[in-house]
Amino acid sequence: MPSSPASSVSHLPSIDALLRSPACQPLITRYGRDATLATLRQLLDDLREPARFGQLASAELATEVLAGRTGERLANQHRSQVRRVFNLTGTVLHTNLGRALLPEEAIEAVQMAARYPLNLEFDLHSGKRGDRDDLIEGLIRELTGAEAVTVVNNNAAAVLLALNSLGARKEGIISRGELIEIGGAFRIPDIMARAGVKLHEIGTTNRTHARDYEAAINPRSGLLMRVHCSNYSIQGFTTQVPTAELARIAHQHQLPLLEDLGSGSLLDLTRWGLPAEPTVRQALADGADIVTFSGDKLLGGPQAGVIVGRKELIAKIKKNPLKRALRVDKLTLAALEAVLGLYRDPDRLAERLPSLRLLTRPQADIHAQAERLAPSLAQVLGSAWQVAAVPALGMIGSGSQPVARLPSAALCVRPLVSKRLRGRSLLALEAALRRLPVPVLGRIDDDALWLDLRQLDDEAGWLAQLGQLQVEHPAP
Ligand SMILES: *Cc1c(COP(=O)(O)O)cnc(C)c1O
Repeated sequence: MPSSPASSVSHLPSIDALLRSPACQPLITRYGRDATLATLRQLLDDLREPARFGQLASAELATEVLAGRTGERLANQHRSQVRRVFNLTGTVLHTNLGRALLPEEAIEAVQMAARYPLNLEFDLHSGKRGDRDDLIEGLIRELTGAEAVTVVNNNAAAVLLALNSLGARKEGIISRGELIEIGGAFRIPDIMARAGVKLHEIGTTNRTHARDYEAAINPRSGLLMRVHCSNYSIQGFTTQVPTAELARIAHQHQLPLLEDLGSGSLLDLTRWGLPAEPTVRQALADGADIVTFSGDKLLGGPQAGVIVGRKELIAKIKKNPLKRALRVDKLTLAALEAVLGLYRDPDRLAERLPSLRLLTRPQADIHAQAERLAPSLAQVLGSAWQVAAVPALGMIGSGSQPVARLPSAALCVRPLVSKRLRGRSLLALEAALRRLPVPVLGRIDDDALWLDLRQLDDEAGWLAQLGQLQVEHPAP
C-alpha cells in the first residue's frame, strides 16, 4: 500500500533506536560514539525532506541500510587526505607528486627514527651535546670532496640561508641569464631580496662575459652567484663564464662564489646513459666556495637542501639564527644518510635507488609492459575507446634537464567520438581514473590520454582496480 506523504516522515527511525541497533555497533567501535552519532544525525537530516514527500521506499529506511550509508560516510570522512597515486604522467621526479621515491634502506631508517629515541644531537663518543649535521657530514664530504656541510629543509631554504649568511646588506652579482624562476614561486631576485642581498644583475639574457663580472665588482660587493639553469635552456648565440673562471675572478677580489646547482647530482649520470648534469664535486673542484642542491631531485632522497663548501663559510652559515628555523628533522636525516650510503657503491646504485632505476628503465621493457596491459584496458573501456601501446617521451622532471626527453612507452587512449566531444570525453576519462582507489594520473596531449608506464612498478595492483573504472560519458 503506497504510504501518504504525511505518514512517511514517521517511518524515519529515531536516532536512539539507530544508535542502539546491532548494525551500528561496529561503527561505534571503529569510529567512536560521537562521530557515529553526528553522522547518523546528518544522514537523517538529509533524508527528512525526501521522506516527507514520499520519495523514499521503505526499504531505504531499513536500519541496516541506514547504518550502511552511515558507514560509507564515516569511511569517507576518515579516509586519509594523503593518498598514494600512480604517477603515469611521464615525469619521473614530479614535484606535485612527491618527487623521488625512497629506497628500502631509507624507509627502514625512517621507521627506526620514527619509532625510537636516537642520537640526533648527542655525541655518543663524548656523551656531550652533538650537532645534527654531524650525522651526515662525513658521508657528504666523502662523496663531494667538500670541506664542510650543513643541511636544511629544501634547496630554496639552502639558497636563502647561504645568501643571507654571506651577503646580507651587500651586493650579489649575478648574470641576467641566471635570474630564474622555479615552479612554486621560487624566484632568484625575490629570494635575494628576502635574504637581504642587493641584486646586482649583469650581462644580458643570452650572453654574460668575464669582463661584465670584473666591471661590476665594487666595495659594496658581497658575493658572486651562479645559478644552474635547471628548468630552461638558453641556446644559440650564448656565452656563459665557466665556473672555474668565475671562481678566479671572485677570489681575486676576496669574494665568495655561491653556486646553486639545483638538482646537483653526486655522480656523472652519463654512465647510465642520462644527460650530463654538473656534479657537486666538479663545482667545488672548479672553485665554487659554496654549492647548494636538493635532496629529492636527481639525488633520489628525501626533501632537503644540502649546503657544502669551505669550512669557514659553512661555520658562518651554521651560526645564522635562520639555520635553526630551516633545519631538517630526524626522519629526513635518517633517510638522507641511508640514500647517501648507497652512493658508496655506484655499480649497484641503479638497482637500489628507485629514481635512478626508473630513469634508466629501458624503453623496450616499458614497451613490452604497455603491450601486455593494453588489452586489459581496452576491454574495461569498451568499444568507445581505442587503446594502443605506443612509444612516448618522458621527462626527468623537477627542473632537471628540461629539454632532455626519456624514450619511454605509453598506453595511448583515444575516444572514438566526434571531434566536438573528444575534449570532454578525455576529461571524463581522466576524472574516472582519478576516482579509482589508487588514483591513476596521466596526461592529455594530441586528443588522447597518455599513460606513460615508465613508473608502473605495481602492475598487479594497477590491473586489480581497473574493473572499478567508470567513465561518465558526456552528453552529446
Ligand atoms: C629546484 C631548484 C631549487 C629549489 O629547490 P627545492 O629543493 O625545490 O627547494 C632552487 N634552485 C634551482 C636551480 C633548482 O633547480
